[in-house]
Amino acid sequence: MGFHMQILIALLLGIKRNWHIFLGLILGVICGIIFPKVQYPVAYKVFSFIGQAFINTIQMVVIPLVISAIVIGISSIGDNKQLAKFGKKMIFYYAIITVAAVAIGAFMGLIIQPGVGAREFIDPNVAQELQGVVASMMNDQQSQFAHIFLNLIPQNPFHSLSMGEMIPIIIFVLIFAIALSKIGEINRPVVSFFESVFAATMKVTDWIMYLAAPGIFALVAASISSFGISIFQGVGKYFLAIFLGILVQFVFVYPLMLKIFSKVSVAKLYGAVTEAAMVAFGTASSSATLPLTITCCEKRGISSKICSFVLPLGATLNMDGTALVQTIAVLFLTQAYGIELSALAIVQICFLAIIASSTCAGIPGAGLITIALVLNGIGLTPEQMVVGFAFLFALDRLTDMLRTTANVVSDTVVAAIIADNANEINYELFNNPELQKDII
Ligand code: ASP
Repeated sequence: MGFHMQILIALLLGIKRNWHIFLGLILGVICGIIFPKVQYPVAYKVFSFIGQAFINTIQMVVIPLVISAIVIGISSIGDNKQLAKFGKKMIFYYAIITVAAVAIGAFMGLIIQPGVGAREFIDPNVAQELQGVVASMMNDQQSQFAHIFLNLIPQNPFHSLSMGEMIPIIIFVLIFAIALSKIGEINRPVVSFFESVFAATMKVTDWIMYLAAPGIFALVAASISSFGISIFQGVGKYFLAIFLGILVQFVFVYPLMLKIFSKVSVAKLYGAVTEAAMVAFGTASSSATLPLTITCCEKRGISSKICSFVLPLGATLNMDGTALVQTIAVLFLTQAYGIELSALAIVQICFLAIIASSTCAGIPGAGLITIALVLNGIGLTPEQMVVGFAFLFALDRLTDMLRTTANVVSDTVVAAIIADNANEINYELFNNPELQKDII
């Protein structure tokens, strides 16, 4: 059987296993089309309310889950050399995936030329109500360039916790967990405490998953209803470039990575994480999907030692889908405004997109905010930047759903490779979907 056919079949099996989430997704698209926000504001409000309730519920477990997962992951790896080896590998694989993503983004942007002729759709005061907010946001982002890295170091971890700032939290927990692993047996009470926290948050995640189908339905319906189908007119090529770019990641880059660096079957992996991919698409949030990403991987044979180390870090740092979209979005604006870019400027855009994506949070819309970094100095007037950016903002949710799906699946690709290399995959379970426990 052809390789791509195997992937398709695995995906269909994954969908069949949790067909109700898929049904929610499809019904969400249909209802979003039938009830556009402009004509049916009440329906939109109901969809948004239910969707937001679902996201809030799932986000409730993310911080305890990330903290406990990292503490357990690092203390179970124990030995420093092994930890450093996993850490290096993780950064290496995430880097390859993200570099591939920006290269594909640049290729799609240059071949499809989504921005050519799009200026008329941007100019006529589109998204005017967003422009004030956008202008000040861009100012913040750009003036803070030097501070971005400084802000990642938490002065007060409890403040970061209460604000839900994932990167500072992770940095603190990483240091704390490494210290715990250095102090010998005395760490036992704290580690067992976090083992209990982890087990309990996973239990809560199981319960929340009963709400996945209605939650995803409402989220998808709200986003489709909010922009309506007319959005595709004029900027259809922009969506096409993004869609094709993400597709290339799924069909070529991830399978190639798995093939070169491991013996993991891509079809089996995609089948194993279908539920997480669907929830990522619906929620547009890697962080909110994280509990389910961990559940899918662990229940299907990837050891918890690897999952609890690699996946929480990936959900925050590895944003290949976002980097791809940012690259295309910036090319879109330069083309729309007729700005010629040298090869060097394109490389610079790609480089900045890698930085901007990895500093963005795993929440809806975050990738577009950090795009302000990439827009810096590419030749747009400040006014064009604000108008263009506000325009992209208005289109963002759909591209966010696509890029988040890539962000999440690529985390599992890297987790699977590292687990394979370290003999931490139970292949008997991983390769036999019949033996795997259902998530819901
Ligand atoms: N929503 C994305 C994520 O959670 C981040 C982004 O906005 O690109 O992975």
